[in-house]
Amino acid sequence: MELVCIVCPVSCNLEVVMEDGKIKEIKGAGCKRGVKYAEEETICPKRTLTTTIRTTDNRMVPVRSDKPLPKDRVFEVMEKINKVKCVPPVRIGDIILEKVYEDVNIIATRNIG
Ligand code: SF4
Repeated sequence: MELVCIVCPVSCNLEVVMEDGKIKEIKGAGCKRGVKYAEEETICPKRTLTTTIRTTDNRMVPVRSDKPLPKDRVFEVMEKINKVKCVPPVRIGDIILEKVYEDVNIIATRNIG
């Protein structure tokens, strides 16, 4: 499997060599962070979710997950997000949805008065 490391702007081209369903070797990483990134992307890819939640007075609050989520859980979390409305005022960092998946919270990224 080939990947581009997104951890820093160097953007190393990584190659994950698999054998019997396990990682045998990771080539091309310029540092250990790239090795860790390739391992995570191969075993359990994660993403920070960014989206919006509607307020009770019909405005949109930009939000994000406070930790990366497993990529295969993003749809399930979006369904939960789409069912709620938040009550203004909202401040940056406020938890809008608590423990939406394990210990991941959805937090506001903009103030809404
Ligand atoms: S492997 Fe290291 S040097 Fe290369 S892009 Fe990733 S973080 Fe940057």
